[in-house]
Amino acid sequence: MNGKLYLVATPIGNLEDMTLRAIRILKEVDFIAAEDTRNTLKLLNHFEIKKPLISNHRHNEEEREEYLINKLKEGKDIAIVSDAGTPGISDPGEVIVKRAVEENIEVIPIPGACAAVNALIASGLDTKEFVFMGFLPLNKKLRKEKLEEIENENKTIIIYEAPHKIKETLKDLKQIIEERKVVLAREITKIHEEFIRGNIDEIIQKSEQLKGEMILLIEGNMDENEENILNNLSLEEHYKIYEKQGLEKKEIIKKIAKDRGVNKNEIYKHFV
Ligand code: SAM
Repeated sequence: MNGKLYLVATPIGNLEDMTLRAIRILKEVDFIAAEDTRNTLKLLNHFEIKKPLISNHRHNEEEREEYLINKLKEGKDIAIVSDAGTPGISDPGEVIVKRAVEENIEVIPIPGACAAVNALIASGLDTKEFVFMGFLPLNKKLRKEKLEEIENENKTIIIYEAPHKIKETLKDLKQIIEERKVVLAREITKIHEEFIRGNIDEIIQKSEQLKGEMILLIEGNMDENEENILNNLSLEEHYKIYEKQGLEKKEIIKKIAKDRGVNKNEIYKHFV
Protein backbone atom coordinates (compact mmCIF):
# COMPACT_ATOMS: atom_id res chain seq x y z
CA MET A 1 0.00 0.00 0.00
CA ASN A 2 1.17 3.54 -0.79
CA GLY A 3 2.33 5.76 2.03
CA LYS A 4 0.77 9.16 2.71
CA LEU A 5 2.18 12.57 1.86
CA TYR A 6 1.64 15.12 4.64
CA LEU A 7 2.10 18.87 4.12
CA VAL A 8 2.87 20.18 7.56
CA ALA A 9 2.64 23.90 8.33
CA THR A 10 5.20 25.20 10.82
CA PRO A 11 5.36 28.54 12.74
CA ILE A 12 6.28 31.79 10.95
CA GLY A 13 8.07 33.18 13.99
CA ASN A 14 6.29 32.19 17.17
CA LEU A 15 6.89 28.57 18.17
CA GLU A 16 3.59 28.51 20.06
CA ASP A 17 1.90 28.36 16.66
CA MET A 18 3.05 24.79 16.12
CA THR A 19 -0.08 22.66 16.34
CA LEU A 20 -0.45 19.48 18.37
CA ARG A 21 -1.37 17.60 15.21
CA ALA A 22 1.73 18.87 13.40
CA ILE A 23 3.92 17.57 16.25
CA ARG A 24 2.18 14.19 16.23
CA ILE A 25 2.43 13.77 12.45
CA LEU A 26 6.12 14.72 12.42
CA LYS A 27 6.69 12.08 15.11
CA GLU A 28 4.73 9.43 13.19
CA VAL A 29 6.00 9.76 9.60
CA ASP A 30 8.96 7.72 8.32
CA PHE A 31 10.93 10.81 7.37
CA ILE A 32 10.68 14.53 6.78
CA ALA A 33 11.58 16.35 3.57
CA ALA A 34 12.63 19.85 4.61
CA GLU A 35 13.48 23.04 2.72
CA ASP A 36 16.53 23.57 4.93
CA THR A 37 17.41 20.61 7.13
CA ARG A 38 19.42 22.77 9.59
CA ASN A 39 16.44 25.04 10.22
CA THR A 40 14.02 22.17 10.60
CA LEU A 41 16.40 20.37 12.93
CA LYS A 42 16.15 23.32 15.35
CA LEU A 43 12.37 23.06 15.25
CA LEU A 44 12.46 19.29 15.76
CA ASN A 45 14.86 19.64 18.70
CA HIS A 46 12.58 22.20 20.31
CA PHE A 47 9.64 19.77 20.17
CA GLU A 48 11.79 16.73 20.96
CA ILE A 49 11.07 15.08 17.64
CA LYS A 50 13.70 12.66 16.37
CA LYS A 51 13.22 11.86 12.70
CA PRO A 52 15.42 11.38 9.62
CA LEU A 53 15.54 14.52 7.46
CA ILE A 54 16.25 14.93 3.76
CA SER A 55 16.55 18.19 1.89
CA ASN A 56 13.83 19.29 -0.53
CA HIS A 57 14.44 22.84 -1.68
CA ARG A 58 13.70 24.97 -4.73
CA HIS A 59 16.84 23.84 -6.55
CA ASN A 60 16.48 20.08 -6.08
CA GLU A 61 12.69 19.80 -5.84
CA GLU A 62 12.31 18.25 -9.31
CA GLU A 63 15.04 15.63 -8.90
CA ARG A 64 13.77 14.82 -5.39
CA GLU A 65 10.34 14.12 -6.87
CA GLU A 66 11.30 10.66 -8.19
CA TYR A 67 12.96 9.66 -4.93
CA LEU A 68 9.99 10.79 -2.79
CA ILE A 69 7.43 9.12 -5.07
CA ASN A 70 9.36 5.84 -4.94
CA LYS A 71 9.48 5.99 -1.15
CA LEU A 72 5.74 6.72 -0.99
CA LYS A 73 5.11 3.74 -3.28
CA GLU A 74 7.18 1.59 -0.94
CA GLY A 75 4.64 2.52 1.74
CA LYS A 76 6.65 5.18 3.55
CA ASP A 77 4.77 8.15 5.04
CA ILE A 78 6.50 11.46 4.33
CA ALA A 79 6.04 14.95 5.76
CA ILE A 80 6.97 18.00 3.70
CA VAL A 81 7.92 21.10 5.70
CA SER A 82 9.31 24.44 4.62
CA ASP A 83 11.45 26.88 6.60
CA ALA A 84 8.36 28.62 7.91
CA GLY A 85 4.63 28.57 7.30
CA THR A 86 2.66 26.49 4.86
CA PRO A 87 4.50 24.33 2.31
CA GLY A 88 3.51 25.01 -1.29
CA ILE A 89 2.81 28.70 -0.66
CA SER A 90 5.85 30.40 -2.24
CA ASP A 91 7.75 27.43 -0.84
CA PRO A 92 8.55 23.87 -2.03
CA GLY A 93 5.55 21.54 -2.09
CA GLU A 94 3.68 22.15 -5.33
CA VAL A 95 5.88 19.87 -7.49
CA ILE A 96 5.63 16.78 -5.31
CA VAL A 97 1.91 17.29 -4.61
CA LYS A 98 1.09 17.45 -8.33
CA ARG A 99 2.98 14.24 -8.95
CA ALA A 100 1.50 12.48 -5.89
CA VAL A 101 -2.01 13.32 -7.09
CA GLU A 102 -1.18 11.88 -10.54
CA GLU A 103 0.06 8.71 -8.84
CA ASN A 104 -3.08 8.40 -6.67
CA ILE A 105 -1.11 8.93 -3.49
CA GLU A 106 -3.06 10.41 -0.62
CA VAL A 107 -2.10 14.02 0.16
CA ILE A 108 -3.01 15.34 3.60
CA PRO A 109 -2.67 19.02 4.63
CA ILE A 110 -1.81 19.70 8.26
CA PRO A 111 -3.00 23.31 8.73
CA GLY A 112 -1.10 26.00 10.60
CA ALA A 113 0.54 29.37 10.10
CA CYS A 114 0.52 31.06 6.73
CA ALA A 115 1.88 34.61 6.56
CA ALA A 116 -0.41 35.68 3.69
CA VAL A 117 -3.65 34.69 5.38
CA ASN A 118 -2.70 36.25 8.71
CA ALA A 119 -1.58 39.49 7.07
CA LEU A 120 -4.89 39.60 5.20
CA ILE A 121 -7.20 38.99 8.14
CA ALA A 122 -5.58 41.74 10.22
CA SER A 123 -5.10 44.20 7.35
CA GLY A 124 -8.47 45.93 7.54
CA LEU A 125 -8.87 45.47 3.77
CA ASP A 126 -11.62 43.43 2.09
CA THR A 127 -11.22 39.74 2.87
CA LYS A 128 -14.24 38.41 0.98
CA GLU A 129 -12.20 38.03 -2.19
CA PHE A 130 -8.47 38.41 -2.62
CA VAL A 131 -5.62 37.63 -5.01
CA PHE A 132 -2.37 36.13 -3.77
CA MET A 133 0.52 37.03 -6.08
CA GLY A 134 3.48 35.64 -4.12
CA PHE A 135 6.77 37.38 -5.01
CA LEU A 136 6.69 39.84 -7.93
CA PRO A 137 8.80 38.67 -10.88
CA LEU A 138 12.26 40.22 -11.28
CA ASN A 139 12.27 39.83 -15.06
CA LYS A 140 11.43 43.30 -16.44
CA LYS A 141 8.74 42.25 -18.91
CA LEU A 142 6.98 39.86 -16.52
CA ARG A 143 7.16 42.43 -13.74
CA LYS A 144 5.57 45.08 -15.96
CA GLU A 145 2.73 42.68 -16.81
CA LYS A 146 2.20 41.87 -13.12
CA LEU A 147 2.14 45.57 -12.24
CA GLU A 148 -0.53 46.12 -14.90
CA GLU A 149 -2.54 43.31 -13.33
CA ILE A 150 -2.23 45.01 -9.94
CA GLU A 151 -3.32 48.31 -11.44
CA ASN A 152 -6.58 46.82 -12.71
CA GLU A 153 -7.27 44.23 -10.02
CA ASN A 154 -10.45 44.94 -8.05
CA LYS A 155 -9.77 42.47 -5.24
CA THR A 156 -7.39 42.83 -2.31
CA ILE A 157 -3.87 41.89 -3.46
CA ILE A 158 -1.27 40.12 -1.32
CA ILE A 159 2.41 40.28 -2.25
CA TYR A 160 5.38 38.66 -0.50
CA GLU A 161 8.60 40.65 -0.59
CA ALA A 162 12.16 40.26 0.64
CA PRO A 163 13.25 43.12 2.94
CA HIS A 164 16.09 44.24 0.64
CA LYS A 165 13.71 44.56 -2.33
CA ILE A 166 10.84 46.32 -0.60
CA LYS A 167 12.04 49.82 -1.51
CA GLU A 168 12.17 49.03 -5.22
CA THR A 169 8.77 47.33 -5.13
CA LEU A 170 7.13 50.27 -3.35
CA LYS A 171 8.65 52.61 -5.94
CA ASP A 172 7.14 50.52 -8.77
CA LEU A 173 3.78 50.36 -7.03
CA LYS A 174 3.73 54.15 -6.59
CA GLN A 175 3.47 54.52 -10.38
CA ILE A 176 0.21 52.58 -10.54
CA ILE A 177 -1.86 52.56 -7.37
CA GLU A 178 -2.38 56.27 -6.59
CA GLU A 179 -4.66 56.65 -3.56
CA ARG A 180 -5.47 53.00 -2.93
CA LYS A 181 -4.96 51.82 0.66
CA VAL A 182 -1.77 49.87 1.34
CA VAL A 183 -0.85 47.77 4.36
CA LEU A 184 2.66 46.64 5.16
CA ALA A 185 2.49 43.67 7.54
CA ARG A 186 5.82 43.05 9.24
CA GLU A 187 7.24 40.35 11.50
CA ILE A 188 3.86 38.68 12.04
CA THR A 189 3.71 36.61 15.26
CA LYS A 190 7.14 37.97 16.34
CA ILE A 191 8.11 40.56 18.97
CA HIS A 192 8.20 43.45 16.48
CA GLU A 193 4.96 42.57 14.71
CA GLU A 194 3.36 45.64 13.19
CA PHE A 195 0.82 46.66 10.59
CA ILE A 196 1.57 49.94 8.86
CA ARG A 197 -1.46 51.35 7.07
CA GLY A 198 -1.75 54.29 4.71
CA ASN A 199 -1.44 55.34 1.09
CA ILE A 200 1.66 54.43 -0.89
CA ASP A 201 3.52 57.67 -0.02
CA GLU A 202 2.93 57.13 3.69
CA ILE A 203 4.09 53.52 3.45
CA ILE A 204 7.24 54.56 1.59
CA GLN A 205 7.97 57.17 4.24
CA LYS A 206 7.31 54.89 7.21
CA SER A 207 9.13 51.85 5.83
CA GLU A 208 12.44 53.57 5.19
CA GLN A 209 14.41 52.01 8.07
CA LEU A 210 12.39 48.84 8.52
CA LYS A 211 13.88 45.40 8.72
CA GLY A 212 12.43 41.90 8.99
CA GLU A 213 9.91 39.87 7.02
CA MET A 214 7.28 41.84 5.18
CA ILE A 215 4.11 41.45 3.20
CA LEU A 216 2.36 44.12 1.16
CA LEU A 217 -1.40 44.23 0.82
CA ILE A 218 -3.10 46.56 -1.61
CA GLU A 219 -6.73 47.56 -1.71
CA GLY A 220 -8.55 46.51 -4.89
CA ASN A 221 -9.02 49.10 -7.61
CA MET A 222 -12.31 50.71 -6.62
CA ASP A 223 -12.85 52.23 -10.08
CA GLU A 224 -12.93 48.69 -11.38
CA ASN A 225 -15.28 47.69 -8.58
CA GLU A 226 -17.65 50.54 -9.33
CA GLU A 227 -17.62 49.70 -13.01
CA ASN A 228 -18.47 46.07 -12.22
CA ILE A 229 -21.25 47.02 -9.84
CA LEU A 230 -22.80 49.42 -12.33
CA ASN A 231 -22.57 46.87 -15.14
CA ASN A 232 -24.47 44.37 -13.04
CA LEU A 233 -27.42 46.74 -12.51
CA SER A 234 -30.45 46.82 -14.79
CA LEU A 235 -30.60 49.99 -16.90
CA GLU A 236 -33.48 51.21 -14.73
CA GLU A 237 -31.48 50.74 -11.51
CA HIS A 238 -28.49 52.42 -13.10
CA TYR A 239 -30.75 55.34 -14.17
CA LYS A 240 -32.14 55.75 -10.66
CA ILE A 241 -28.68 56.20 -9.18
CA TYR A 242 -28.06 59.31 -11.27
CA GLU A 243 -31.66 60.50 -10.97
CA LYS A 244 -31.22 60.57 -7.18
CA GLN A 245 -28.17 62.78 -7.70
CA GLY A 246 -30.51 65.31 -9.40
CA LEU A 247 -29.17 64.89 -12.93
CA GLU A 248 -31.23 65.59 -16.07
CA LYS A 249 -32.30 62.73 -18.38
CA LYS A 250 -29.85 63.71 -21.14
CA GLU A 251 -26.95 63.83 -18.70
CA ILE A 252 -27.96 60.52 -17.11
CA ILE A 253 -28.04 58.74 -20.48
CA LYS A 254 -24.61 60.10 -21.32
CA LYS A 255 -23.22 58.88 -18.00
CA ILE A 256 -24.78 55.41 -18.26
CA ALA A 257 -23.34 54.99 -21.76
CA LYS A 258 -19.90 56.01 -20.50
CA ASP A 259 -20.06 53.65 -17.48
CA ARG A 260 -21.02 50.74 -19.71
CA GLY A 261 -18.72 51.62 -22.57
CA VAL A 262 -21.57 51.72 -25.11
CA ASN A 263 -22.94 54.30 -27.54
CA LYS A 264 -25.38 56.73 -25.86
CA ASN A 265 -27.99 56.17 -28.62
CA GLU A 266 -28.32 52.58 -27.44
CA ILE A 267 -29.20 53.76 -23.94
CA TYR A 268 -31.41 56.53 -25.28
CA LYS A 269 -33.48 53.99 -27.29
CA HIS A 270 -34.15 52.05 -24.08
CA PHE A 271 -35.64 55.07 -22.32
CA VAL A 272 -37.87 56.55 -25.10
N1 SAM B 1 5.20 29.43 3.03
C1 SAM B 1 5.27 30.66 3.77
C2 SAM B 1 3.87 31.00 4.29
O1 SAM B 1 3.06 30.11 4.46
O2 SAM B 1 3.60 32.16 4.53
C3 SAM B 1 5.87 31.79 2.96
C4 SAM B 1 7.28 31.56 2.54
S1 SAM B 1 7.97 32.80 1.54
C5 SAM B 1 9.45 32.03 1.01
C6 SAM B 1 8.62 33.98 2.67
C7 SAM B 1 7.88 35.29 2.62
O3 SAM B 1 6.70 35.20 3.40
C8 SAM B 1 8.66 36.45 3.22
O4 SAM B 1 9.52 37.06 2.26
C9 SAM B 1 7.56 37.39 3.65
O5 SAM B 1 7.08 38.14 2.57
C10 SAM B 1 6.48 36.39 4.10
N2 SAM B 1 6.60 36.09 5.55
C11 SAM B 1 6.97 34.93 6.11
N3 SAM B 1 6.92 35.03 7.46
C12 SAM B 1 6.51 36.28 7.74
C13 SAM B 1 6.26 36.99 8.95
N4 SAM B 1 6.45 36.43 10.15
N5 SAM B 1 5.83 38.27 8.86
C14 SAM B 1 5.64 38.85 7.66
N6 SAM B 1 5.86 38.23 6.49
C15 SAM B 1 6.29 36.96 6.53
